[in-house]
Amino acid sequence: MDTVTDFRRCSRPGCGAPAIATLRYDYAARMATINQLERGDDPHSWDLCERHLSRQTVPEGWGLEWEE
Ligand SMILES: [Zn+2]
Repeated sequence: MDTVTDFRRCSRPGCGAPAIATLRYDYAARMATINQLERGDDPHSWDLCERHLSRQTVPEGWGLEWEE
């Protein structure tokens, strides 16, 4: 019987709430995209909980895009 190993937690320091989405920065395009939670360990992605996702902002001049 497998244990659940793909439970993801929010990447924000000191948070630890379950992550609901993955934020990825595309530095070349100056775009931040929010996707459904992804597996894998992309160093440019952050897993965020609902609370941190709702507070997420992007740097000046960047775009923020939601992908379903
Ligand atoms: Zn969080």
